[in-house]
Amino acid sequence: MHPNIWYPYTQAKTAPSAIKVKSGKGAWLELENGRQILDCISSWWVNTHGHAHPQIAAAIYQQAQQLEQVIFSGFTHDPAEQLAERLVAKLPDGLERVFFSDNGSTAVEVALKMAYQYWVNQGKPRQAFLAFQGGYHGDTFGTMAVGGRSIFSEVFSDLLFEVDFVPFPATYWDDPQAELKEQTAIQKIEAALAEQPQRYAGILIEPLVQGAGGMQMCRPEFLQQLRQLAQQHNTLLIFDEVMTGFGRTGDWFACQRAQSTPDLICLSKGITGGFLPLAVTVCSEQIYQAFYSDAPIKTLYHGHSYTANPLGCAAALASLDLMAVNEPTFQSMEAQHTRELQKLRSHPRLEKLRVTGTIAAMDIVTPEQTDYLNPVGMQIRQAALERGLLLRPLGNVLYLMPPYCITAEELTAAYSGIESILTQLD
Ligand SMILES: *Cc1c(COP(=O)(O)O)cnc(C)c1O
Repeated sequence: MHPNIWYPYTQAKTAPSAIKVKSGKGAWLELENGRQILDCISSWWVNTHGHAHPQIAAAIYQQAQQLEQVIFSGFTHDPAEQLAERLVAKLPDGLERVFFSDNGSTAVEVALKMAYQYWVNQGKPRQAFLAFQGGYHGDTFGTMAVGGRSIFSEVFSDLLFEVDFVPFPATYWDDPQAELKEQTAIQKIEAALAEQPQRYAGILIEPLVQGAGGMQMCRPEFLQQLRQLAQQHNTLLIFDEVMTGFGRTGDWFACQRAQSTPDLICLSKGITGGFLPLAVTVCSEQIYQAFYSDAPIKTLYHGHSYTANPLGCAAALASLDLMAVNEPTFQSMEAQHTRELQKLRSHPRLEKLRVTGTIAAMDIVTPEQTDYLNPVGMQIRQAALERGLLLRPLGNVLYLMPPYCITAEELTAAYSGIESILTQLD
């Protein structure tokens, strides 16, 4: 480990030394020692079109020579305006006002503040949020509060605000309980909303796929029912699409794939193709109007130094161009994952196989408990590296989430690597 760096999500005492990466190209990373590894997790889920893509690099270079950064309060610029217009055009009707920030946690934080103040501004304050067990929304205090309680937030639990949690109806191939789990969750949500009609400022969910909570997937039907419930009980629906946005679920956004439109949507990871930190929270006109007033107190007093950074916006615009080109790739990856996973279907060490769009996941059967600290995760990380694969299981949940530029041959090679790792596990 470098003597001056404190690495994230790393217990320095027990973790293996960080691996130095020299360069990247397409789905590949080149290490300091000259070895190539295939990035099967898009470098923590951000990279969509491949590493060091020349088109995005050129867009950033060009923008940097013109305007690298400017205060975004009282001033505006073309890259931000164009990006807002293009995002709104791509998002479902009703999501119209774009608020910029610079990472996924703050995109969610902003959505929570918008939802909370929406009710305050109307003189009808609400006290709490409804969120899902196993959810992950970021590492700030607000987003830890709405995240499912886990080892990530345990130390801080006394400082987290009030949130009521309901079960997430996670499902997988051959799950006989899928509908039952949905009904149970819906009943609990409906009961909570009906018992205390003025309590919830909003319902927050990662639509279709819960990421850090273990790539747990639910059916579109559930999100459609959730939309109805939020409407009937007059509360706001917030989709945290920080991970699922920009093609990950096989459509541009999970809300489109699920045919369920939220009142607020949070986007970040894939927005710049994985080049620069940027995020947006997009809300409905109705929410925006609740802040539009002569009263200063009704303002959304939130903003970051690098809000709508022009370089980030330029990267995002270039990434949007590539999204249009790569549409067939992210749309067809689900079929390819499915074909590959079929071959592993009866593997004795695997259960709960599941696929949504470009994300495939499976649970590894181990004698230990299913959680983030399951030692099989680290075992697989090491074994994968030896085979030239970047895999990083969440405990015993093994998943693939490659950049869209990965070829069919490369993906097949990744799956054969996984098969041989599993065979050698014990
Ligand atoms: C990664 C993630 C976040 C947090 O984003 P950061 O950029 O790491 O702050 C929030 N929500 C979801 C669903 C995520 O996957």
